[in-house]
Amino acid sequence: MSIWVFSEETNGLPSGGSLELITKARTLGEVAVFYLGAGSDAAWATLGDHGAGSVHHLDTGDVLPSGPAAAAMAELVSDATAVFFGMGNTDRDVAGRLAARLGRAAVSNGLDVSMDGTVTVASEILGGTLEVITEVTAESPAIVVMRPKAFAAEPNGGAAPVVYAVPLVDVGRAGAATVTERHVEESEGPALGEANVIVSGGRGLGSADKFAMMDELAGLLGAAVGGTRAVVDAGWVPYSYQVGQTGKTVKPSVYIACGISGAMQHVVGMKGSSTIIAINKDPDAPIFALSDLGVVGDVHKVVPQLIDALKARA
Ligand SMILES: Cc1cc2nc3c(=O)[nH]c(=O)nc-3n(C[C@H](O)[C@H](O)[C@H](O)COP(=O)(O)OP(=O)(O)OC[C@H]3O[C@@H](n4cnc5c(N)ncnc54)[C@H](O)[C@@H]3O)c2cc1C
Repeated sequence: MSIWVFSEETNGLPSGGSLELITKARTLGEVAVFYLGAGSDAAWATLGDHGAGSVHHLDTGDVLPSGPAAAAMAELVSDATAVFFGMGNTDRDVAGRLAARLGRAAVSNGLDVSMDGTVTVASEILGGTLEVITEVTAESPAIVVMRPKAFAAEPNGGAAPVVYAVPLVDVGRAGAATVTERHVEESEGPALGEANVIVSGGRGLGSADKFAMMDELAGLLGAAVGGTRAVVDAGWVPYSYQVGQTGKTVKPSVYIACGISGAMQHVVGMKGSSTIIAINKDPDAPIFALSDLGVVGDVHKVVPQLIDALKARA
């Protein structure tokens, strides 16, 4: 079986999400990668090391990439069994355009995928309370959009792949938009999506300035800071902090939830954490149902004590 994986370059290398998908794809069949970005020997080596046998490389320069990428992919993937995309903005944009060009449905929000005669995708609805199994019976390729962290990215020591240059085709108005500026959000400490420890704040913190407490605790633990949608909507922290259904999916070793109720839309984004610690003044808060360790108490008292204890140890 032939599986294609879409990979967009991020900071000079294939996105972490695409490496997760390649790792899964290599257990299902031969893996070809459609790579969008400047490209480099280091990028090819990384793709090969995760199981890509071939790489089809398109560099759109400053042209907004989704239109040309979808057009080029439509020419390449017609014999494939499936095409995997992650949940990045460009991934979803290209997946939708490719589905329209090929006249195929796209199955989104996947958490697992299997291929036993047909392509079958597992996903969750209603905040993770119900599992849905979707069997793609339509003509291949099946277009599957997978959630981040559905699989772990693991190198397997594969050889460097064969790399083919893909020409930039004229897609008319769909290729007329150009990227005029790129903004990289400044942040300190580990990235939220990759962090091993996350300190996350909710509405229970009371106000924006109390996030300084989260920053201090995170600094002492070498952690990243996250938050709920409630605090993002309140403007206390930027959207990049948001964990949950409409934010980031995280799987750290330790997730410390401070003043977070545990709404299902938040929980779907962090329930894969190995150890969950909750601090909440309400003993009936739903977050305690999935916590390994719970502190019933006021965050404004518990967190400063924790910070003092950590400082005393340092
Ligand atoms: C379509 C949709 C998508 C959504 N996507 C997301 C998402 O991606 N991520 C997300 O997080 N939410 C999401 N939500 C919102 C979600 O439903 C909740 O509203 C949100 O997660 C609640 O955030 P919270 O826990 O900070 O606030 P609350 O639910 O208000 O909880 C605050 C908690 O703090 C506790 N508390 C109060 N004061 C203190 C104190 N001094 N000390 C200790 N504890 C205290 C309270 O007991 C309470 O449990 C989504 C909702 C919808 C409808």
